[in-house]
Amino acid sequence: MEKSYNILIVGAGTAGVYLGWLLSKQGYSVLIIERDSQKNVGHRLELIHFETEQLKESGVPIPNKAPVLVTQIEEATLISPDNNVSIKYRDFQTVVRLPLFLQQIFVLAESTGVNFNFACKFEELIFENNKIVGIKAIKENREIIYKSNIVVDASGTTAVIRTSLPPNYGIETWKLGSNDVMFVPIRYFKWKYPDQPHPYPMINCVSDIAFLNPSFSKEQGVFGVGQLGSFEKANNILDSFIERMNWPPFEIIKKEQGRTPYRRPPFSLVSDNFICIGDAAAITQPFSGHGVTATWYLCRIIPKILQKIPKGEENFKKTDLWEINVRYFTTQGADYAFLFTLLSGFFDFTDKELNYLFKNLEFLLKPFSPSNSAEIDNQEQFHLKISDIIKIIYFVLKGIILIKLKMKNLIKILKLKKLAGKIKKHYIKYPKNPADFTNWVKKAQFLWYQKEKMNSK
Ligand SMILES: Cc1cc2nc3c(=O)[nH]c(=O)nc-3n(C[C@H](O)[C@H](O)[C@H](O)COP(=O)(O)OP(=O)(O)OC[C@H]3O[C@@H](n4cnc5c(N)ncnc54)[C@H](O)[C@@H]3O)c2cc1C
Repeated sequence: MEKSYNILIVGAGTAGVYLGWLLSKQGYSVLIIERDSQKNVGHRLELIHFETEQLKESGVPIPNKAPVLVTQIEEATLISPDNNVSIKYRDFQTVVRLPLFLQQIFVLAESTGVNFNFACKFEELIFENNKIVGIKAIKENREIIYKSNIVVDASGTTAVIRTSLPPNYGIETWKLGSNDVMFVPIRYFKWKYPDQPHPYPMINCVSDIAFLNPSFSKEQGVFGVGQLGSFEKANNILDSFIERMNWPPFEIIKKEQGRTPYRRPPFSLVSDNFICIGDAAAITQPFSGHGVTATWYLCRIIPKILQKIPKGEENFKKTDLWEINVRYFTTQGADYAFLFTLLSGFFDFTDKELNYLFKNLEFLLKPFSPSNSAEIDNQEQFHLKISDIIKIIYFVLKGIILIKLKMKNLIKILKLKKLAGKIKKHYIKYPKNPADFTNWVKKAQFLWYQKEKMNSK
């Protein structure tokens, strides 16, 4: 059996289905194949959060009632590691049940003509003249050949296609190692005495990357943590976070865990007849770990570039698709590279240091407080006043004198900030022509190597 489509997407997670929907609206014939059955897809996570603003930008109808919508929040609390200082800040998030939300997007995608084949597993790529022309898949022990002008890897952290590309295909084929992913154990719980006072989610702790998130009702919540290394390490840190917080009694009702990419994406996301997106391309917001809307930004670029290529063209050459790289890496890609580099410096701060910083630099978060009506949408709008800078210098020096802060960690942050700036600048100069890519990569590799060197000190 052999069938042909303009676009063949492997993986019906949030990335694959969203891109399929956008492309089918533009008139392309799209097939999405998915290893899991339609009933089971997306069940690895029960709840998922979106920044409400980004959900609006996606064009996907925002769930407005249960059971898909769990809750919408407007503020969150940041706490110090010792839980002595807590700061409220504006944070508009929509929490949904992922499996049900996915089913809604399937319906949306089907309404615009996307074809799905569930319980159908990608096996291998098919090449003609060294170019991808389709895939071999397996369904119910039968082999199916699908031909396609573009194959999209949306298979999640396993990146089954990207990692199986020939080394000379122009895309990095690395697999995610244990230090390239955040291990995220999640524990659903209910308060034993819901009528008594208890902390109300969402709460984020500045150390441990630990959180207390909303769950299905006010009587319930979710504890979780994100850590590099292993689930064992992450679970131990989660245990100690829960113990340290000394919250009222609760009962664990369910546990789940997953891995989310935490590394730079490949230097190129496209090659001849090929694009990779989502976790397969390691695209996640470095601060929150949110991957869904992060990759939807990239997905919205793709149709804009494809529409410039005459319909009916058999091959989508790397040169045709290159502008996807340019548009992505010069915008969100550059911002995330900056954040990813800078944030890596904070992993070295001890709880004692973070407690000190938090207590004394609390004022920096004032512009984000729920009572401040002025909107601060992005980092560009967040400017420090001279008086703030003087205050920072005063408290940092005081911290060093009182041995509350280590000079070594502060110097490292300053150096990482400088390096992050250089990396961002380099991404903003992403080559417009693939011929200049090799030189660009050489410099990018050198800059990322500098980051690794600083982080290993
Ligand atoms: C615990 C945890 C909590 C998270 N919370 C949030 C959050 O609140 N907000 C947020 O934005 N992000 C969150 N993330 C990250 C987010 O879940 C991912 O970034 C996002 O789901 C990635 O989507 P994707 O479509 O790329 O991959 P996936 O959702 O993994 O989808 C890939 C699909 O490909 C299929 N597949 C794999 N191999 C094959 C094959 N050989 N053949 C056919 N199909 C195949 C898989 O079955 C799967 O359905 C969280 C991650 C974790 C682990």
